[in-house]
Amino acid sequence: MARSRFGPVTSSDLYPVSRLAAVQEATAKAGLDALLLTPGPDLRYVTGYEALPLERLTCLVVPAAGESYLMVPRLELPAAQASPAARLGVEFVAWDETDDPYDLVARRLGRVATVGLADRMWAMASLRFRAAMPEAEQVLAGTVLRELRMRKSAVEVDALREAGEAIDAVHRQVPQFLRAGRTEREVGRDIHDAILAAGHATVDFVIVASGPNGASPHHELSDRVIQAGEPVVVDIGGQFHSGYCSDSTRNYCIGEPPAEYKEYFQVLQAAQDAACEAVRPGVSCESIDAAAREVIAQAGYGDHFIHRTGHGIGIETHEEPYIVSGNTEPMEPGFAFSVEPGIYLAGKHGARIEDILVCTDTGGERLNNTTRDLVIV
Ligand code: ZN
Ligand code: ZN
Ligand code: ZN
Repeated sequence: MARSRFGPVTSSDLYPVSRLAAVQEATAKAGLDALLLTPGPDLRYVTGYEALPLERLTCLVVPAAGESYLMVPRLELPAAQASPAARLGVEFVAWDETDDPYDLVARRLGRVATVGLADRMWAMASLRFRAAMPEAEQVLAGTVLRELRMRKSAVEVDALREAGEAIDAVHRQVPQFLRAGRTEREVGRDIHDAILAAGHATVDFVIVASGPNGASPHHELSDRVIQAGEPVVVDIGGQFHSGYCSDSTRNYCIGEPPAEYKEYFQVLQAAQDAACEAVRPGVSCESIDAAAREVIAQAGYGDHFIHRTGHGIGIETHEEPYIVSGNTEPMEPGFAFSVEPGIYLAGKHGARIEDILVCTDTGGERLNNTTRDLVIV
């Protein structure tokens, strides 16, 4: 069945009105007096409102007890009223140019011991809140929200699946863009356009790492001319129109790859499979990292796998849970994260294979499904 370009997932499914009550309950349970959510992913998660981060304060105040309200600059009021935040039925408190909005929040809250600040709040705002509420200890709102954000609902998983299908469609086009004589930047520009054409609202990153650049995991784009015989790491992602993110890495080669590369690429494939197969409810996040790392270490490439195996993904590309040694958090159905081991030979080349997975009741479902073999172009 043909699916509309703008997909089946609607914002009222993704940002249900019931979420605010769940957040308030979690705030009380965590012993915080209030959450202060300024524009960014935390505010969007709770309200669906993609407010502009500005020097004028916009802030959803979620007290542990009592009514939540949205502080907005008066000139932003029409935009806020037209946003998904209006569905929540909370009071909108407009402040005027001569008001001190931080002081207004402090006075409305009264005496508070601990407030949770949005993880991505600007330092400017957090320091103004500190000055307005000198007695209040400031902690990250993430201490409360991570528990909710990590556990994706079925609709959120659908949104991630949709984003995954879109980025897969872009990977299928990469062989058309890649050839010897073009620069990474030229190839990257084509990929950028394809990511948008596939239904993403924004392009978050385009990594085209050719030859020795492939050994730098976060190399982005350069004017380096891609040569025949070179492996190329392509790691791409963006925010789909739903607000949920995509992220997938595949490996390409202009003609036949070097023998050494072929050897470790097989190891990498085995490692990525082992980690994906290790996913099921109850296992720790670190055990999934270990599953990949063990295969790579046993083949003698342990020193060349220089980063964690993965990161959670949702309304942000990198969020909890992190698939890293030391994270003993047990997997639960609804956890969504990347599995992206890599092997990097400095000065020569490198490879990384990355899929987004969601933990189901029985195992891990891969949301990226293009071939994980080396694609010869
Ligand atoms: Zn990364
Ligand atoms: Zn990636
Ligand atoms: Zn990633």
